[in-house]
Amino acid sequence: MKHKRDTIQKIAALIRSRASAALLCHVHPDGDALGSMLGLALALERLGKRVVRVSSDGVPPPYDFLPRSRAVRRTLPRTLPPLGIVLDCDGPARLGAVGRRAAKIRQIVVIDHHATGKPFRGVRWVDPRASAVGEQVSELLAALDVPLDTDIATCLYTAILTDTGRFSYSNVTPRALRTAGRLVQAGADPGAIFQQVYETKSLGQAALLGAALSNLTTADAGRIVLSTLTRADFAAAGAGDSDTEGIIDQVRAVRQAEVAVLLVERDAEVRCSLRSRGRADVARVAEEMGGGGHPQAAGCTLAGPLRRVRERLVRLVAAELGPRP
Ligand code: 5GP
Ligand code: MN
Repeated sequence: MKHKRDTIQKIAALIRSRASAALLCHVHPDGDALGSMLGLALALERLGKRVVRVSSDGVPPPYDFLPRSRAVRRTLPRTLPPLGIVLDCDGPARLGAVGRRAAKIRQIVVIDHHATGKPFRGVRWVDPRASAVGEQVSELLAALDVPLDTDIATCLYTAILTDTGRFSYSNVTPRALRTAGRLVQAGADPGAIFQQVYETKSLGQAALLGAALSNLTTADAGRIVLSTLTRADFAAAGAGDSDTEGIIDQVRAVRQAEVAVLLVERDAEVRCSLRSRGRADVARVAEEMGGGGHPQAAGCTLAGPLRRVRERLVRLVAAELGPRP
């Protein structure tokens, strides 16, 4: 506990001592990556710092409603700031295209909640018990004495909302709910944010969900529920690569699913999302295949073809689940 407080104080001191910082998040950013980055960026600006917001993959919808999302750039500026703060990212490889230049930033601070990954150099605050990095950023802002305002609260609430699956996963804790409560108190509007994040689907996204559900299959005597989306499914649905968010939650809703798997074909690669109901640690499976994540939500990217990836994954997940009762 003391160690954690010291780390937060150390990060706060580093921030106070620098006039500018670059904030960075992981590839294919989700609500936590973007929400925690944009929330912290606003807070640093309130402290009078110059901030660059960097996401290798930009800001996909639906997160473009987040305050100051238009300021996000895909590359680092020519002159590197003296401080780089990396959020929700379990290793340098997860930074994507900006990773190489980010490695040249003098001082790196990492704020993350993954137990997997390859460590960055620099000062690291990794808290696997935090439901979202947004929760950690809320604590950091308290240490920095930055009062929450509506915009900051909107960003951080979105981070916690999305990483807890709308406050439904096993990572929901009293601390997550208390933090969310404080953010609502500070002006985050749960109804409006819910609509922005979950009810702004395009017709293409809805059609893609339909394809994923009609492609459902099971393996390992039903303990693994699996769906695949091929390039043809994307074309037929009129959907793009960022339109898969949330689909895995529908796959795992099937009663007997101990593990849910979604395989998405992307040119020569297959993107895998894994979710566990609790018995299997899917982060271990993902890590074995070069990815990472949390025990109950993880992912990885493998070289195709789809059928081979499927076979390999099913074998690994079945082994992780252990003998059938
Ligand atoms: P999703 O299935 O939503 O893409 O990812 C679920 C979780 O696994 C997230 O916490 C995400 O950060 C992590 N994750 C997904 N893909 C990868 C990957 O390729 N590498 C690593 N290290 N983590 C991943
Ligand atoms: Mn996260």
